[in-house]
Amino acid sequence: MVTQIGGFALLLSFYINKKLKISFLGRPLITFVTVYLIFSLVIVPIVAPIFGREKVKHINNIYPVNYMTVLLNRNYVRPDLNKMLQNTAKELENTGIYIHYLDANFPFMDSFPLLPHLSHSDGKKIDVSLIYETPEGIISSSQKSMSGYGVFEPPKTKEFNQIAICLKNGYLQYDFPKYVTFGKINKNLSFSDAGTKRLIQGFLKSNLLGKLFIEPHLKQRLRLNNTKVKYHGCQAVRHDDHIHLQLK
Ligand SMILES: [Zn+2]
Repeated sequence: MVTQIGGFALLLSFYINKKLKISFLGRPLITFVTVYLIFSLVIVPIVAPIFGREKVKHINNIYPVNYMTVLLNRNYVRPDLNKMLQNTAKELENTGIYIHYLDANFPFMDSFPLLPHLSHSDGKKIDVSLIYETPEGIISSSQKSMSGYGVFEPPKTKEFNQIAICLKNGYLQYDFPKYVTFGKINKNLSFSDAGTKRLIQGFLKSNLLGKLFIEPHLKQRLRLNNTKVKYHGCQAVRHDDHIHLQLK
């Protein structure tokens, strides 16, 4: 459920272990890790394109926030999504703004959701990080949590507070990302209004983009009037720690 192919690699490693004649310390674990890495890093990247998905391409200023996204096979997209990311990256060249991506999709099968994201199941979805800046106002290429999720840019006093409404109505999962930071970092950085707006404007220029989700108070604060910027609903999780993009 976490890597899509981990269960298969585990079964195969049981079989190989049974057949192996030599014995050594930690053999079951070492066999599993070896089989898993061969599949994840060599076989799946070759086979997935046959079924219409490919790895997010790391060119120019496109990187994963955490390399675990790649090791866990959560970095697969349709070719059009790679095209959109690359065009936007080109657009953002010389701005100091990086596209730091988070969870995308698994390599195979529509309708196999990439938990906890129920909609990331068709190769058309990807999450990207917000943009942060130093106390001097310089755009940073770092994030505020190890996973890229869970450190929020909450509503200011007079801003519309959709989060309070969802939690009050019993959608307790709305706040769930706060449990998956895997550690808060770079506490000196703060949310960059200008940087995040510039990143979003870059994506909005692409006619491959279908929808973009961000929390309503940030939509309001950044004055994002494009009709592709939508609200995801209380049944999802809050989007003031990351941006969700999806193809048409
Ligand atoms: Zn998403």
